[in-house]
Amino acid sequence: MHLKKIEINGFKSFADKVEIDFKKGITAIVGPNGSGKSNIADAIRWVLGEQSIKTLRGSKMEDVIFSGTDKRRALGYSEVTITFDNNDKVIPLDYGEVAITRRMFRSGESEYYINKNSCRLKDIRELFMDTGVGKEGYSIIGQGKVDEVLSTRPEERRKIFEEAAGIVKYKTRKIEAEKK
Ligand code: ATP
Ligand code: MG
Repeated sequence: MHLKKIEINGFKSFADKVEIDFKKGITAIVGPNGSGKSNIADAIRWVLGEQSIKTLRGSKMEDVIFSGTDKRRALGYSEVTITFDNNDKVIPLDYGEVAITRRMFRSGESEYYINKNSCRLKDIRELFMDTGVGKEGYSIIGQGKVDEVLSTRPEERRKIFEEAAGIVKYKTRKIEAEKK
């Protein structure tokens, strides 16, 4: 499984639709300060369901929608789609490609889609559990994350290993079953 493509439309500084293809190997995104490099990483977190605006470097959720410039009006919604190559079926769906979309309006309401089918955030969370991708995943190592991993409490650090070992799904199901 690997990231193939990201389409960003109205997210933060991306007023126009931007499509980035990730080819085999390493992709580096370079540009001057403030040009939107980190906004791309934010877009990936966001589409996978990030709900913490602090993590997304804003102060209210609306801050992820293009807020306009002197020459351009603010937009009404933000939409991001990421497409994974899933030929190895690491994502437990019988599709060679899996596209995740999130759309959010200024009202704060978010819509989520898996391969264009409307779904719940919970469905996306479950899909990516134990894949290393997603909120608790280790696929995005932000600034300061390495220090955090080293200095964190052992129980917290254990969560990273559990995700890598692929047992989070079972632990989550156990906890849910015990609640019932
Ligand atoms: P650096 O090299 O300093 O890390 P960067 O390329 O990572 O820079 P980003 O942090 O991705 O830059 O982008 C910051 C820019 O995004 C700022 O110019 C900011 O005004 C713009 N921006 C953030 N949110 C919005 C928004 N909602 N609407 C319009 N522009 C936004
Ligand atoms: Mg940056």
